Amino acid sequence: MHDLLYLDHNATTPIHPEVRAAMLPWLENEFGNPSSVYSLGRRAAAALATAREQLACLVGAQPSEIIFNSCGTEATNTAILSAIAIDPDKRHIITSAVEHSATIKLCEHLATRGYEITWLPVDQDGLLDPAKLDAAITPETAIVSLLWANNETGVLFPVEEIAAITARKKVPLHLDAVQAAGKVSINLEVLGAQYVSLSAHKLYAPKGVGALYVNRRARYTPLLRGSQEESKRGGTQNVASIIAFGKAAELAGTHLLTSAEHIARLRDRFEQTLLSTIEGVRRNGTAEPRLPNTSNLTFSGIDAESALLLFDKEGLCCSAGSACSSGSIHPSHVLTAMGVTRDEARASLRFSFGRTTSEADIDRSLEIIPRIVAKLRAQRPAGGSPVHLTT
Ligand code: PLP
Repeated sequence: MHDLLYLDHNATTPIHPEVRAAMLPWLENEFGNPSSVYSLGRRAAAALATAREQLACLVGAQPSEIIFNSCGTEATNTAILSAIAIDPDKRHIITSAVEHSATIKLCEHLATRGYEITWLPVDQDGLLDPAKLDAAITPETAIVSLLWANNETGVLFPVEEIAAITARKKVPLHLDAVQAAGKVSINLEVLGAQYVSLSAHKLYAPKGVGALYVNRRARYTPLLRGSQEESKRGGTQNVASIIAFGKAAELAGTHLLTSAEHIARLRDRFEQTLLSTIEGVRRNGTAEPRLPNTSNLTFSGIDAESALLLFDKEGLCCSAGSACSSGSIHPSHVLTAMGVTRDEARASLRFSFGRTTSEADIDRSLEIIPRIVAKLRAQRPAGGSPVHLTT
């Protein structure tokens, strides 16, 4: 058995030991319902209030603007569905071609219900042209919903310019900051977006807990009705996980600048070494502005899914620019929207580094990756398709 070499922090992160320690009492003796009036419940309510402050502090919001829920996907669905419920006559939604499935699947569904969806394009570097957003907004537009940071390439959208446009045109703006939070600084007080999605498990806290920021001046209607979260999101709160989310947000804020610098240095050494020492390697997405932890690379002539299987045998975890479902391999919609060919997308791998990634991890990955790429290329029949291995 090899030691784990985890280079997939955009998929999820390990729970930080301090986060785990913070949540444990709330899985043991402190099991109260935060809505209960006796002290066991009141302690849970007080701990939720602290977590709300911690998360608000990370993103430059007021605690009252944070609504805890089950995940980033719920936050995104809530924001978009809220905006269209508030303005039922507005039947136009603007998003982009490179969004997370939380947005794409919902917009595709709404298209079947008669909504017109504008899928803004990106250029070959994954960048969005704000002028195209400006031109797409009509009096029918109910909401603009865009990524802050792309989960596959790490490319950052120009959120300040986007927010200035939507403010001028008086259209609500939702930003999916699930990948951005804790990796780049966020100041929602200054930005002026109406809704922002957040998720704990990208931030060294558990899966199954998220939050929606709703600006205090924004109009909002809940997705789940009930009395919790000041009637903005029904359902008894996941107390232990929310407390973990708060602690993780506090740690992310404390270490933001130093860890971003450390991770970017490792990522750049990794990326530069592969680009300069292996032939037929290309980066997908602009070098800047980009998340400090993400590197998406095409290794021409390989099948990325097969690479994942061989990497796994050596303990290395990363992601492919394709997803295998029902026996067929779908190239990433993010990469194809950037003009990457389907074959190149199938030869693409995403490496995402984290706070605990070390120089030794980079050294080990730089030994494994060139060897596996060479092996896969050597197995490819002359002029034929890349070999595709299955489990
Ligand atoms: N948005 C982005 C950009 C993501 O990367 C993810 C998770 O991969 C989500 C939304 C969904 O978050 P969750 O897994 O908490 O539903």
